[in-house]
Amino acid sequence: MPLQAIYCLFELPIDENEEEKEKEDLIYGTKRLDIKVDDEDDLRNVEILTSDYKNIVGAKLDGGFEDYFELMIKKHEVQGRPISDGDDIILLNSFDGAEAIKSKDNKSSVISFSSQIFSTNQIQEKKVAAGSSFNILTWLQVIGKETIDLLKIMGSDFFTARKKILEGSLTIPSCPNSKLWCYDVHDGKMHYELTQHSKWNRKYCPNLLCYCQKGDGLKSNHTCELMTRDDNKWYVAQSKAVWDRNETSHDELKHRDWADAENWGVTHFGVSPEEYPLDTLRYDTFHMSCSIL
Ligand SMILES: [Zn+2]
Repeated sequence: MPLQAIYCLFELPIDENEEEKEKEDLIYGTKRLDIKVDDEDDLRNVEILTSDYKNIVGAKLDGGFEDYFELMIKKHEVQGRPISDGDDIILLNSFDGAEAIKSKDNKSSVISFSSQIFSTNQIQEKKVAAGSSFNILTWLQVIGKETIDLLKIMGSDFFTARKKILEGSLTIPSCPNSKLWCYDVHDGKMHYELTQHSKWNRKYCPNLLCYCQKGDGLKSNHTCELMTRDDNKWYVAQSKAVWDRNETSHDELKHRDWADAENWGVTHFGVSPEEYPLDTLRYDTFHMSCSIL
Protein backbone atom coordinates (compact mmCIF):
# COMPACT_ATOMS: atom_id res chain seq x y z
CA MET A 1 0.00 0.00 0.00
CA PRO A 2 1.51 3.33 -0.94
CA LEU A 3 2.05 5.68 1.94
CA GLN A 4 -0.08 8.75 1.81
CA ALA A 5 1.86 11.56 3.34
CA ILE A 6 0.77 15.03 4.18
CA TYR A 7 3.32 17.77 4.14
CA CYS A 8 3.43 19.89 7.20
CA LEU A 9 5.18 22.83 8.69
CA PHE A 10 5.62 22.68 12.42
CA GLU A 11 6.01 25.87 14.37
CA LEU A 12 9.07 25.83 16.57
CA PRO A 13 8.78 28.42 19.32
CA ILE A 14 12.11 30.12 19.69
CA ASP A 15 13.52 32.92 21.72
CA GLU A 16 14.65 35.75 19.47
CA ASN A 17 18.08 35.61 21.09
CA GLU A 18 18.30 31.96 20.24
CA GLU A 19 17.85 32.53 16.56
CA GLU A 20 21.48 32.07 15.69
CA LYS A 21 21.66 28.88 17.68
CA GLU A 22 18.48 27.57 16.10
CA LYS A 23 19.86 28.42 12.74
CA GLU A 24 22.60 25.93 13.40
CA ASP A 25 20.18 23.32 14.68
CA LEU A 26 17.75 23.46 11.83
CA ILE A 27 18.99 23.28 8.37
CA TYR A 28 17.34 25.46 5.88
CA GLY A 29 19.14 27.66 3.48
CA THR A 30 17.62 30.88 2.28
CA LYS A 31 16.36 29.09 -0.78
CA ARG A 32 15.20 25.65 -1.61
CA LEU A 33 17.88 23.21 -0.57
CA ASP A 34 19.90 21.39 -3.09
CA ILE A 35 18.87 17.89 -2.15
CA LYS A 36 21.06 14.90 -2.53
CA VAL A 37 19.47 11.79 -1.17
CA ASP A 38 21.35 8.55 -0.86
CA ASP A 39 18.23 6.45 -0.75
CA GLU A 40 15.37 7.92 -2.76
CA ASP A 41 12.77 5.78 -1.02
CA ASP A 42 13.81 7.15 2.34
CA LEU A 43 12.76 10.60 1.46
CA ARG A 44 10.00 10.14 -1.02
CA ASN A 45 7.55 11.73 1.36
CA VAL A 46 9.66 14.67 2.37
CA GLU A 47 9.43 17.91 0.52
CA ILE A 48 11.22 21.10 1.26
CA LEU A 49 8.55 23.73 1.49
CA THR A 50 10.01 26.78 3.08
CA SER A 51 13.03 28.94 3.44
CA ASP A 52 11.94 29.98 6.92
CA TYR A 53 14.27 28.37 9.44
CA LYS A 54 11.80 28.97 12.26
CA ASN A 55 9.69 26.16 10.93
CA ILE A 56 10.46 22.52 11.20
CA VAL A 57 9.92 20.84 7.88
CA GLY A 58 8.87 17.28 7.56
CA ALA A 59 6.28 14.84 6.40
CA LYS A 60 3.77 13.16 8.66
CA LEU A 61 1.56 10.27 7.84
CA ASP A 62 -2.04 11.40 8.14
CA GLY A 63 -3.89 10.31 11.26
CA GLY A 64 -2.81 9.17 14.69
CA PHE A 65 -1.35 6.09 16.23
CA GLU A 66 -4.58 4.06 15.93
CA ASP A 67 -4.45 4.66 12.16
CA TYR A 68 -0.80 3.66 12.07
CA PHE A 69 -1.66 0.44 13.90
CA GLU A 70 -4.21 -0.40 11.23
CA LEU A 71 -1.68 0.28 8.48
CA MET A 72 0.77 -2.04 10.19
CA ILE A 73 -1.94 -4.71 10.59
CA LYS A 74 -2.69 -4.39 6.85
CA LYS A 75 0.98 -4.83 5.99
CA HIS A 76 0.89 -8.23 7.68
CA GLU A 77 -2.38 -9.17 5.97
CA VAL A 78 -0.96 -8.31 2.55
CA GLN A 79 1.97 -10.62 3.29
CA GLY A 80 -0.41 -13.46 4.11
CA ARG A 81 0.46 -13.69 7.79
CA PRO A 82 -2.37 -11.82 9.49
CA ILE A 83 -2.36 -10.93 13.16
CA SER A 84 -5.46 -12.17 14.94
CA ASP A 85 -7.40 -10.36 17.62
CA GLY A 86 -6.28 -11.77 20.94
CA ASP A 87 -2.67 -12.40 19.88
CA ASP A 88 0.00 -10.90 22.11
CA ILE A 89 1.47 -8.08 20.03
CA ILE A 90 4.87 -6.45 20.35
CA LEU A 91 5.23 -2.84 19.26
CA LEU A 92 8.74 -1.61 18.56
CA ASN A 93 9.41 2.08 17.98
CA SER A 94 12.61 3.35 16.49
CA PHE A 95 13.68 6.91 15.86
CA ASP A 96 16.88 7.60 14.05
CA GLY A 97 18.66 10.54 12.57
CA ALA A 98 20.67 10.26 9.40
CA GLU A 99 22.71 12.70 7.46
CA ALA A 100 20.80 12.46 4.25
CA ILE A 101 20.66 15.87 2.69
CA LYS A 102 23.48 18.11 1.69
CA SER A 103 22.90 21.66 0.73
CA LYS A 104 25.67 23.60 -0.90
CA ASP A 105 27.09 24.62 2.47
CA ASN A 106 25.54 22.35 5.01
CA LYS A 107 25.27 18.75 5.88
CA SER A 108 21.71 18.20 6.88
CA SER A 109 19.92 15.53 8.80
CA VAL A 110 16.61 13.79 8.61
CA ILE A 111 15.09 12.09 11.62
CA SER A 112 12.81 9.18 10.85
CA PHE A 113 10.19 8.01 13.33
CA SER A 114 9.19 4.42 12.66
CA SER A 115 7.26 1.62 14.29
CA GLN A 116 6.50 -1.99 13.65
CA ILE A 117 4.28 -4.62 15.21
CA PHE A 118 4.37 -8.39 15.18
CA SER A 119 2.73 -11.06 17.25
CA THR A 120 4.44 -13.55 19.53
CA ASN A 121 2.79 -16.29 17.44
CA GLN A 122 4.48 -14.98 14.30
CA ILE A 123 7.87 -15.24 15.98
CA GLN A 124 7.21 -18.70 17.40
CA GLU A 125 5.97 -19.91 14.03
CA LYS A 126 8.97 -18.23 12.38
CA LYS A 127 6.78 -16.15 10.10
CA VAL A 128 8.66 -12.95 10.84
CA ALA A 129 12.39 -12.68 10.30
CA ALA A 130 14.33 -10.49 12.71
CA GLY A 131 16.02 -8.61 9.91
CA SER A 132 12.92 -7.98 7.84
CA SER A 133 12.19 -4.35 7.19
CA PHE A 134 8.94 -4.91 5.30
CA ASN A 135 6.61 -4.31 8.22
CA ILE A 136 8.30 -1.13 9.41
CA LEU A 137 6.07 1.91 9.08
CA THR A 138 7.76 5.29 8.98
CA TRP A 139 5.08 7.71 10.14
CA LEU A 140 7.08 10.90 10.46
CA GLN A 141 10.21 12.35 8.95
CA VAL A 142 11.61 15.66 10.06
CA ILE A 143 14.53 17.68 8.86
CA GLY A 144 16.77 18.59 11.75
CA LYS A 145 19.25 17.24 14.20
CA GLU A 146 18.56 14.91 17.08
CA THR A 147 18.11 17.52 19.79
CA ILE A 148 15.79 17.20 22.75
CA ASP A 149 13.99 20.47 21.90
CA LEU A 150 13.07 19.25 18.46
CA LEU A 151 12.27 15.72 19.64
CA LYS A 152 9.97 16.95 22.39
CA ILE A 153 7.95 18.99 19.91
CA MET A 154 7.85 16.42 17.16
CA GLY A 155 7.39 13.47 19.47
CA SER A 156 4.71 14.99 21.70
CA ASP A 157 1.73 13.25 20.03
CA PHE A 158 3.67 10.01 19.99
CA PHE A 159 4.62 10.21 23.66
CA THR A 160 1.00 10.92 24.62
CA ALA A 161 -0.08 7.90 22.57
CA ARG A 162 2.74 5.80 24.05
CA LYS A 163 1.59 6.59 27.57
CA LYS A 164 -1.97 5.51 26.67
CA ILE A 165 -0.65 2.30 25.09
CA LEU A 166 1.26 1.48 28.28
CA GLU A 167 -1.83 2.23 30.39
CA GLY A 168 -3.95 0.05 28.10
CA SER A 169 -6.32 2.83 27.05
CA LEU A 170 -5.05 2.92 23.45
CA THR A 171 -5.32 -0.38 21.65
CA ILE A 172 -5.31 -1.57 18.07
CA PRO A 173 -8.87 -0.91 16.83
CA SER A 174 -9.15 -4.18 14.91
CA CYS A 175 -7.48 -6.19 17.72
CA PRO A 176 -9.15 -4.87 20.88
CA ASN A 177 -8.46 -8.08 22.80
CA SER A 178 -4.75 -8.19 22.05
CA LYS A 179 -2.25 -7.28 24.73
CA LEU A 180 0.31 -4.78 23.50
CA TRP A 181 3.91 -4.82 24.62
CA CYS A 182 5.61 -1.52 23.82
CA TYR A 183 9.36 -0.99 23.58
CA ASP A 184 11.53 1.76 22.17
CA VAL A 185 14.58 0.36 20.44
CA HIS A 186 16.48 3.46 19.36
CA ASP A 187 20.22 3.63 19.11
CA GLY A 188 22.22 4.85 22.10
CA LYS A 189 22.48 8.41 20.86
CA MET A 190 18.71 8.77 20.57
CA HIS A 191 18.01 7.20 23.98
CA TYR A 192 20.48 9.53 25.68
CA GLU A 193 19.02 12.55 23.90
CA LEU A 194 15.44 11.63 24.83
CA THR A 195 16.25 10.86 28.47
CA GLN A 196 18.89 13.59 28.90
CA HIS A 197 20.83 11.15 31.04
CA SER A 198 24.52 11.78 31.78
CA LYS A 199 26.35 11.22 28.53
CA TRP A 200 28.60 8.20 28.05
CA ASN A 201 31.75 10.30 28.26
CA ARG A 202 30.90 11.58 31.74
CA LYS A 203 32.94 10.77 34.81
CA TYR A 204 30.63 8.97 37.22
CA CYS A 205 27.27 7.66 36.02
CA PRO A 206 27.14 7.39 32.24
CA ASN A 207 25.07 4.20 32.18
CA LEU A 208 21.46 4.86 31.30
CA LEU A 209 19.76 1.69 32.43
CA CYS A 210 21.65 0.61 35.56
CA TYR A 211 23.41 1.72 38.70
CA CYS A 212 26.90 0.80 37.51
CA GLN A 213 29.33 3.66 37.77
CA LYS A 214 32.04 4.11 35.22
CA GLY A 215 34.56 1.29 35.49
CA ASP A 216 32.42 -0.87 37.81
CA GLY A 217 32.06 -3.51 35.12
CA LEU A 218 35.80 -4.17 35.30
CA LYS A 219 35.74 -5.14 38.96
CA SER A 220 35.73 -8.81 39.81
CA ASN A 221 32.41 -10.37 40.82
CA HIS A 222 30.58 -7.30 39.60
CA THR A 223 26.83 -7.59 39.22
CA CYS A 224 24.77 -5.10 37.30
CA GLU A 225 21.65 -3.77 39.01
CA LEU A 226 19.09 -2.28 36.67
CA MET A 227 17.32 0.92 37.72
CA THR A 228 13.59 0.35 38.10
CA ARG A 229 10.87 2.51 36.61
CA ASP A 230 9.88 3.82 40.05
CA ASP A 231 13.46 4.60 41.07
CA ASN A 232 13.97 6.44 37.81
CA LYS A 233 10.84 8.52 38.45
CA TRP A 234 12.13 9.33 41.91
CA TYR A 235 15.51 10.54 40.61
CA VAL A 236 13.83 12.62 37.89
CA ALA A 237 11.67 14.23 40.59
CA GLN A 238 14.76 14.78 42.74
CA SER A 239 16.52 16.49 39.82
CA LYS A 240 13.56 18.82 39.34
CA ALA A 241 13.35 19.55 43.07
CA VAL A 242 17.05 20.46 43.26
CA TRP A 243 16.64 22.65 40.16
CA ASP A 244 13.54 24.35 41.58
CA ARG A 245 15.26 24.96 44.91
CA ASN A 246 18.00 26.69 42.92
CA GLU A 247 20.70 24.48 44.44
CA THR A 248 22.51 24.25 41.12
CA SER A 249 21.91 27.93 40.36
CA HIS A 250 19.70 27.15 37.36
CA ASP A 251 22.93 26.54 35.51
CA GLU A 252 22.38 23.63 33.16
CA LEU A 253 25.99 22.50 33.02
CA LYS A 254 26.38 22.71 36.77
CA HIS A 255 23.16 20.79 37.19
CA ARG A 256 24.36 18.06 34.83
CA ASP A 257 27.58 17.79 36.85
CA TRP A 258 25.50 17.39 40.02
CA ALA A 259 23.25 14.77 38.40
CA ASP A 260 26.26 12.79 37.22
CA ALA A 261 27.93 12.80 40.64
CA GLU A 262 24.93 12.62 42.95
CA ASN A 263 21.79 11.54 41.09
CA TRP A 264 22.92 8.42 39.18
CA GLY A 265 23.14 10.51 36.02
CA VAL A 266 19.40 11.23 35.93
CA THR A 267 18.12 14.70 35.01
CA HIS A 268 14.60 16.06 34.47
CA PHE A 269 15.49 17.70 31.13
CA GLY A 270 14.26 14.82 28.98
CA VAL A 271 10.93 13.25 28.09
CA SER A 272 8.99 12.49 31.26
CA PRO A 273 9.31 8.98 32.74
CA GLU A 274 5.52 8.60 32.59
CA GLU A 275 5.69 8.84 28.80
CA TYR A 276 9.01 7.11 28.37
CA PRO A 277 9.60 4.70 31.27
CA LEU A 278 13.12 3.41 31.64
CA ASP A 279 12.18 -0.26 31.69
CA THR A 280 10.57 -0.02 28.23
CA LEU A 281 13.80 1.12 26.56
CA ARG A 282 15.99 -1.30 24.69
CA TYR A 283 19.18 -0.57 22.85
CA ASP A 284 19.37 -1.20 19.18
CA THR A 285 22.58 -3.17 19.58
CA PHE A 286 23.28 -3.20 15.86
CA HIS A 287 23.61 0.57 16.06
CA MET A 288 25.15 0.98 19.46
CA SER A 289 28.77 0.32 18.69
CA CYS A 290 29.00 3.10 16.14
CA SER A 291 26.70 5.49 18.00
CA ILE A 292 28.37 5.36 21.38
CA LEU A 293 32.01 4.90 20.61
ZN1 LIG B 1 25.29 -2.09 34.87
